[in-house]
Amino acid sequence: MNTLENLIVLLSRLPGIGKKSASRMAYSLLKGEESYNRVLGQSIAELKEKIHKCSQCGNYTEEELCSICSSKDRDELTLCVVEESQDIMMIESTGDYKGLYFVLHGVLSPLDGIGPTELGFDRLLDRINTLGVKELILATNPTLEGDSTALYIKHLLEGKEIEISRIASGLPVGGDMEYADKMSISRALKGRMNY
Ligand SMILES: [Zn+2]
Repeated sequence: MNTLENLIVLLSRLPGIGKKSASRMAYSLLKGEESYNRVLGQSIAELKEKIHKCSQCGNYTEEELCSICSSKDRDELTLCVVEESQDIMMIESTGDYKGLYFVLHGVLSPLDGIGPTELGFDRLLDRINTLGVKELILATNPTLEGDSTALYIKHLLEGKEIEISRIASGLPVGGDMEYADKMSISRALKGRMNY
């Protein structure tokens, strides 16, 4: 396999990129500026070197703590559980949420060997206890796995005096939060109900 074919294969492994898009990208890189290709390659190489998970919430950051955890203006008594780091970006873009987050980096999926330990539920419980959380918002995606993950967390907290809500209504059923628009997330946040 030559360099170009190799790049096309590598690019087509990215989500949402088919063989056709991958080859369009590769040919465009070949035609384009060499300096751009270098910077692009360097950014990709540095991703894993520089960015890691926030030690408190799991959000991606270049610092020890992410900007949300280190902010003094957040409500520490409210915690929102999301599947992925990019869900935080979506919720933050609404400007309607002032609490903290916890990123699971996945959902319960027994067939894939992803259970409560893999998702760090013990860290989640630690975080809830340390902060003295009063309200927990379960914002996992409205999919089968997202729903069962939310339900599992709810059961974990049974008996604790924590108000639990689920924001799934308003988000497209079966869809990722990533694709939900600002308005529907904002609506879901405002209309959240006890779970
Ligand atoms: Zn954080």
